Order: sequence, then structure tokens, then C-alpha cells
Amino acid sequence: MIDMQGIYKTYPNGVTALNGLDVHIEQGEFVYVVGPSGAGKSTFIRLMFREEKPTKGSIMVNSTNLNKVKERKIPNFRRNIGVVYQDFRLLPKLSVYENVAFALEVIEESPKNIKRRVMDVLDQVRLKNKARFIPDELSGGEQQRVSIARAIVNHPQLLIADEPTGNLDPDTSWEIMQILEEINATGTTVVMATHSKEIVNTIRKRVIAIEDGQIARDEKRGDYGYEA
Ligand code: ADP
Ligand code: ADP
Repeated sequence: MIDMQGIYKTYPNGVTALNGLDVHIEQGEFVYVVGPSGAGKSTFIRLMFREEKPTKGSIMVNSTNLNKVKERKIPNFRRNIGVVYQDFRLLPKLSVYENVAFALEVIEESPKNIKRRVMDVLDQVRLKNKARFIPDELSGGEQQRVSIARAIVNHPQLLIADEPTGNLDPDTSWEIMQILEEINATGTTVVMATHSKEIVNTIRKRVIAIEDGQIARDEKRGDYGYEA
């Protein structure tokens, strides 16, 4: 589902973030991406949904060859990928319901189907009873659950999470992890960058460690491997 070969990324300012990286991720895997700050984790993740382009190397995601994809096809490509950020990135003036419905770019869908889909996904993240609230009225953990709902409302094959628990306390972080595991159990590939030693060492999954823009470790049931 994700295949990267010989990936290099040098930003316009001359900083090389990725320095020769090969990765293969199968449909349905759950992968943690770990490593020191500045190692290249975010860059690695941003390549997967074409937020960045590599300077060199080939990338296939969901059978789309990102070296060849036409600009006009990128929105369609991204519809199959959900993204969750550390800082939630919700629209502050819209309700929970509207934040999630907004992401449903299904012009041909009836309002009835959209409503059903939004309420299903809010149920999945245990927020059906807060559909009318605005983000400011929610706790951090609830806001992150809205952002997860928004990310999966299109049934993406791939869910990318860039430090999803980075702003949350430990109890709330475990709730978020439970939801991510439930999403993964339905067959969605999950790629999660994290600095949480506790999470990585407790919920064992594949661990890809990036250091200085290269794969330092890639272990099937790995550990965090750094001091927290
Ligand atoms: P990590 O997520 O592991 O902290 P990043 O991928 O964010 O690593 O960054 C890797 C390197 O690339 C760092 O030196 C960082 O400063 C640099 N970098 C990241 N994004 C940009 C950018 N948009 N422009 C220039 N340099 C960048
Ligand atoms: P009810 O019929 O009791 O409102 P629903 O399951 O239809 O229950 O909706 C649950 C929540 O979702 C309610 O808070 C409702 O305001 C909100 N909601 C439903 N549809 C929409 C919509 N189209 N736009 C905004 N909020 C909606």
C-alpha cells in the first residue's frame, strides 16, 4: 500500500530532511514512526499524502504512483487518506457535526446519507451526544476525537497521525489509542508519528525509527528505543 524507494528530501533552504530511505507498508498495518526531533518523521509522513514531494526517489501510495500523478488527480488521491494532527485543526466556528460533515466531499451524496455517515462516525468516536458543540466547548481529547472522525468519515484506506497524543494527558492519550486501534481493526492502515515511549512500549506494533533522515530501525514488534 505504501512503497518508498531511494527517497531523498532537501528543502529549498538546503536542509536535507530525508537521506536515502526505503520503506514498504502493507494494507492493514499499524506503524509507529519514532526518532529524535528533527530526524525527518514529519517530512516522511508528509510525503505519503503529497504534502511534500521528494527531491529524489519513488513513492507509491494506494496504487497511485506519486511520481506520475497529475495535479488535478491529487484531491481524489487525498480522499483516500485521513490525516490527524497534534493540534486538531478544527474549524472553530463550526459545530462538531459541521466539522465532520464539511470533510464529506461527496457532492452526489444525499443530505440524508451524509447525516447518517456523520452520526455513525461520531458514534464510533463516542461523541454523538456532542454533535451541536463547538470545539471550544470540548476537552482536548474530545477535540482530537472530532478530528479523527473528520479524518475517517470518507472511509480512507490510510490514516496518518502526526503526534496525535502530543497535546493530551496520559488518560486521554489511551482513549485516543483505543480509537486508533479500533479503526485499524477495520482494515485501515495507520501510520502514527509519536514521542510517547509509554504508548509504543505498551501497545506493541511495528516501529520504524528515523534518525538523520534514514531508517535506523524497522522492527515488527518494536520498542520506543529512546529515553522519553
Ligand atoms: P521531525 O518530524 O522528526 O522532527 P522534520 O521532518 O520536521 O523532523 O524535520 C527534518 C528536518 O527538516 C529538520 O532539520 C527541519 O528543520 C527541516 N524542515 C522541516 N520542514 C521544513 C521546511 N518546510 N522547510 C525547511 N526545512 C524544513
Ligand atoms: P436529533 O433528531 O435529536 O437532533 P440526530 O441524531 O438527528 O438527533 O442529531 C444528533 C445531533 O446532530 C443533534 O445535536 C443535531 O443538532 C446534530 N445534527 C444533525 N443533523 C445536523 C445538520 N445537518 N447540521 C448540523 N447539526 C446536525
